[in-house]
Formats: sequence, C-alpha cells, structure tokens
Amino acid sequence: MSAALIDGKAFAEGLRQKIAKFADEFEAKAGRKAGLAVVLVGEDPASQVYVRSKGKATTAAGMNSFEYKMPADASEADLIAKVEELNADPAVDGILVQLPLPKGLDEQAVISTIDPDKDVDGFHIINAGRLSVGQKGFVPCTPLGCLMLLKDRLGDLSGKDAVVIGRSNIVGKPMAQLLTDANATVTIAHSRTANLPEVVKRADIVVAAVGRPEMVKGDWIKPGATVIDVGINRVDGEDGKTKLVGDVDFDSAREVAGAITPVPGGVGPMTIAVLLRNALVSAYRRENIALDEDAL
Ligand code: NAD
Repeated sequence: MSAALIDGKAFAEGLRQKIAKFADEFEAKAGRKAGLAVVLVGEDPASQVYVRSKGKATTAAGMNSFEYKMPADASEADLIAKVEELNADPAVDGILVQLPLPKGLDEQAVISTIDPDKDVDGFHIINAGRLSVGQKGFVPCTPLGCLMLLKDRLGDLSGKDAVVIGRSNIVGKPMAQLLTDANATVTIAHSRTANLPEVVKRADIVVAAVGRPEMVKGDWIKPGATVIDVGINRVDGEDGKTKLVGDVDFDSAREVAGAITPVPGGVGPMTIAVLLRNALVSAYRRENIALDEDAL
C-alpha cells in the first residue's frame, strides 16, 4: 500500500486565493488595504529569502507589505522602538519580527513588545495564554496550517489518537493544544520519551516536529495513519547536492501510512499562507468588520 500524498502546496494555493478574495472585500469595506509589517535584523541569508517571499505573497494577496531592514548590530532599544512605532501605526494589522535575531538581542523581550492584537505569528505570551484557555487570539502559523491539512483530510478529529513529536513553543505545544481542542486524544512525545516507536505506533495522527532528518521510520507508524511532517532538514544528497528532507523517513513511511505530507511541498507552503490569513483576520478584527474566521 502506498499512502495518499497530502498536497500542502495545492491546499496553500487554494487558501491564498480565498485570502485574496477576502482581502478585496476588506479593502472595499474599510477603504484601505490590510497591512503586514515584517522586520528583519541582520543579513541571515535564509531569513532574507523568507522575508522576500513573505513580502511577495502579501502583495499578491492584495495586502500591503511593509518591510523594515535593520543592521545586524542594531540595538535592542532600536528594535523595540521600531516595534512600538508599528504597534501605533493604523495601517499595520500584523507585525512579524523575523527570527532568529542576531546574538545579543533578546527574542522574548522583543516579541513581548508586539501588540498581542497584531501578533500574527502568535508567539506573544498573551496569545499562547489565549490558545491555552480557549480565547480568541492568534495561533502560530505552522501548527494551524497542520490542523487545516488534517481536517481537510480526515474531517472530524474527535476520538482520534494523535502523537505530536516535539514540544517547542512554536510548533509542538500549540499543535497539541489545537488537536486537543479538536477533540483528539493527544500525546506529546519529546527527546526524553521512552519507547518512542511504540508511542508513535498507537497514533491515528502523527505530527513530527523534531528537526532530526528522517528519524521516524515506517515501522513506527500504525497502518493507515495520517502523517504530518513538519521537519525541514538540509542533508547531503547522493549527487553531492544538498536536499531537503523531513523528520519522517518518507520512503518507508509511505508504505504504511494512509496519507502523508511530502517535504518539500507539504507543511512548508502552509506557513506563509496562514500568516497571510492571520494578518487579514487581524485587519477585519481591528476595523470591526464581520468575518466568518472559520471560513478562512
Ligand atoms: P525545536 O528544536 O524548538 O524543538 C524540537 C523538539 O523535538 C524538542 O521539543 C525536542 O524535545 C524534540 N526532540 C529532539 N530530539 C528528539 C528525539 N530524538 N526524539 C523525540 N523528540 C525529540 O524545533 P521546532 O522549532 O519545533 O522545529 C522542528 C522542526 O520543524 C525543524 O526541522 C524545523 O526546521 C521545522 N519547522 C518547519 C516549519 C515549516 O514551516 N514547515 C516551521 C517551523 C519549524
């Protein structure tokens, strides 16, 4: 048996089209475009690529993209002043500070300066708290994207056994919370979990967010399970070029799973699409314009 492929790229494209339609409606009703501001500090090449593609995607969705580049030696006070300026700017609905920040800058201090109602990455402690107690806020983009793929594939998640491997604040923990809220029975596995293969084998849903290339093997997977691979790992390919692989050993897992996300083309494209979604939701909320947020 070979698993169905969960095409995150196609799903993200569909979501972006919906966002573009709602962004047009927002502009017509509010008399302005929704706006997303991204702050990049330093010259990290991967971050530069992300920021560029975020900017392009934002404009393509009919929203304003504001990009601010600061030098690698910018002080924390300068960065915080920039965030405060964006907090006060009525044209800015969402603020994202690209991580990681250069050494010496305290990420938590900077993130906690972002107005929680513009924190479209969902990293502010207030939004983590809101998610934890079931209040409306912003949910981190990657786990929300994973949930969308799972619901699209499986429909109702009630009663499913889910294992999330990884307990980071930006992926594992919010993912587990979202699955719990969707009535799945959730186990969070991590670097100290005993008998990880056996734990994973119980799961109808496996979300791997570890950062270890191809760690999860096919014989860990329950036949027919749905596997979401969040991992993005660069490894040397046989041809000497680097290639991207996930945290799941795709070739062996796809022989056992019912459905699986590829890397690349699975979870990755969802992250930016959900960022745009969160920014647009913020714009509607800030202008008090009705929106069925579940439709996005
Ligand atoms: P992280 O390093 O913050 O957390 C990794 C987690 O994995 C930790 O909680 C740790 O306990 C767990 N872990 C480590 N070794 C383990 C082991 N041997 N067995 C079981 N658990 C183990 O990473 P993160 O930020 O959550 O990211 C995880 C992966 O997802 C990375 O590959 C990252 O690049 C990728 N990622 C992808 C996207 C995307 O857009 N697709 C977004 C964020 C992160």
